[in-house]
Amino acid sequence: MRVAVLRETLPGEARVALVPESIKKLTAAKNEVWVESAAGEAAGVNDSDYEAAGAKVTSDRTQLLPAADVLVCVQRPAPSYMAAMRPGSVVLGFLRPLDEPGALEPAVGLKLTTFAVELIPRITRAQAMDALSSMATVVGYKAVLLAASHLPRMFPMLMTAAGTVAPAKVLVLGAGVAGLQAIATAKRLGAVVEAYDVRAAAGEQVKSLGATFLEVDLGGIATEDAGGYARELSPEALKRGRDLIAKQARNADVIVTTAAVPGKRAPLMMEDEAVLAMKRGSVIVDLAASTGGNVSLSRPDEVVVTSNGVSIFAPLNLAATVPYHASQLFSRNMTSFLQLLNKDGQLTIDMRDDVVGPSCVTHQGQVVNARVAALLGEPVTR
Ligand code: NAD
Repeated sequence: MRVAVLRETLPGEARVALVPESIKKLTAAKNEVWVESAAGEAAGVNDSDYEAAGAKVTSDRTQLLPAADVLVCVQRPAPSYMAAMRPGSVVLGFLRPLDEPGALEPAVGLKLTTFAVELIPRITRAQAMDALSSMATVVGYKAVLLAASHLPRMFPMLMTAAGTVAPAKVLVLGAGVAGLQAIATAKRLGAVVEAYDVRAAAGEQVKSLGATFLEVDLGGIATEDAGGYARELSPEALKRGRDLIAKQARNADVIVTTAAVPGKRAPLMMEDEAVLAMKRGSVIVDLAASTGGNVSLSRPDEVVVTSNGVSIFAPLNLAATVPYHASQLFSRNMTSFLQLLNKDGQLTIDMRDDVVGPSCVTHQGQVVNARVAALLGEPVTR
């Protein structure tokens, strides 16, 4: 099976889909890997590192794309790249199938099989392929560093000859993968951390990290779906959460928000008044900007400074600012997935496989994912 890796083209995207350590594994497992020259540069990987690992490096994209059985990418490839691929070949990466389903329609006509890593089911067997968790880990970590470097205060409590410095107070909203990593990072830096989530299970995890879990009486409603994800809450339940957050926010130095509900707009956790009542110099990092934002005053990919001196960051691609490790984790995830597609050195797509089937968006000229088909108004074909 011939696997191709291109240099990412989205502005600011510094990650690369496969790193040399994975190429060694893939070539040992009857794959051939072709890498576009300079693909790893922004992530700290040289062409010579790829060659030493057994990849063929080429600067001729027109040669690479038609030859590939599988194109592995971080971001969805440009339509012209997809058009250069052979019918029956595979595209694997963050394809944004639920946010921008229309962008995958060309893959139908081109008869490409597309696998979206966002759709990889979170079952035990697929844990090693869970790129959403890998990237959330990186993002949660970096969000705290971003806040710390802009805060006019230090994080740890210090006892100095000039007296005591009080620790920073950090509030984390949403304690999933990114939120838990934000809590752990803030704790390591010495902050006092509080967190809020609607899932009861998150409470135990927050406490196990040494942070305080904020409890809200949501009136006994179900807050989790069968898959363990948060449900979209009623307006009343959301308001109860916001009221508590507004109260706690007055004392916080940093707020990191990560609340998300798969396939829906991110819940609004902080309205204008809550932000405008915060202390001057406080920092908010809204990690839900790509799905509408948790903070009413945040603006995607901008830094908003409010009239009361609160800085609100809403980065859209924070994982790309830690490209070495983000690429390494993503590459390991993709290598595990690629193993499912290679049978005796040949590309083999088994749609009955409980990871392969659910991750697939388009196959043999059809949209095969029910949610994407519904968004596109097309009949489901599987
Ligand atoms: P996510 O990115 O979808 O959401 C982030 C967090 O926001 C979640 O913890 C969610 O409960 C919270 N949230 C949603 N609405 C909220 C609201 N109104 N107020 C407060 N918080 C709100 O979630 P995620 O980080 O991808 O993971 C969520 C769940 O999936 C967790 O239970 C996690 O342990 C589980 N998970 C399982 C696996 C696996 O089994 N392989 C892998 C990763 C995550």
